[in-house]
Amino acid sequence: MFKVLLDLFFPELCAGCDTALRDGEAYICTPCRHALPLTQYHLNNSPQVEKIFYGRVPIAQATALLRFEKKGITQKLIHQLKYKNQEGIGVFLGDWLGGELKQLPNYQNIDLVLPVPLHKTKLKQRGYNQVTAFAKQLAEALNAKYTDDVLIKVSHTNSQVTKNRLARWTAKDSVFSIQNNSKIHGKHILLVDDIITTGATMEACANLLLPCKPSKLSLAAMAIA
Ligand SMILES: [Zn+2]
Repeated sequence: MFKVLLDLFFPELCAGCDTALRDGEAYICTPCRHALPLTQYHLNNSPQVEKIFYGRVPIAQATALLRFEKKGITQKLIHQLKYKNQEGIGVFLGDWLGGELKQLPNYQNIDLVLPVPLHKTKLKQRGYNQVTAFAKQLAEALNAKYTDDVLIKVSHTNSQVTKNRLARWTAKDSVFSIQNNSKIHGKHILLVDDIITTGATMEACANLLLPCKPSKLSLAAMAIA
């Protein structure tokens, strides 16, 4: 009864288009769900994400669920996830990608899922790392462990949007740190982030992980720009 009244006055809205969700819909409405720009890279064995890292760091498998376009639905979803307290969008996207990856042989021997970390100041402001729920759902689908105590973000940089590319590059080697290295040794690691743009963030994390001798390093993101 209470929920019915609550829904009447404060209906849950679609994170893609702001219309009220109907019964049985969660996070986004059915038309938005059908309009999601799925990459399907992993389903088609398309190395579009791996290509970004060629000659930079050795990556076993890499994929992203959605294409990111300015003003597109992916941008809207990730904005809601990061700035509007809609952590459930990470669950939704993680369930979707996890459901696809668990069918694929290349993703079946993943041992450990690691989120790209947030600095603790940012974590306090936002209340959650926007990658955590997504990464946890992937870990569950892939029957792997999830841990956020290996990679640590040590320097607090302003939003990358305001920084030019050169500043990002010079900052990239110093913003992350690694601990509990023994958890990595011999394991197939899946490193997870929200959006891959230049690949600099994933590369910086990979450069810390690879000396710990994982058996393989793979990547997954919600979206690719
Ligand atoms: Zn919608």
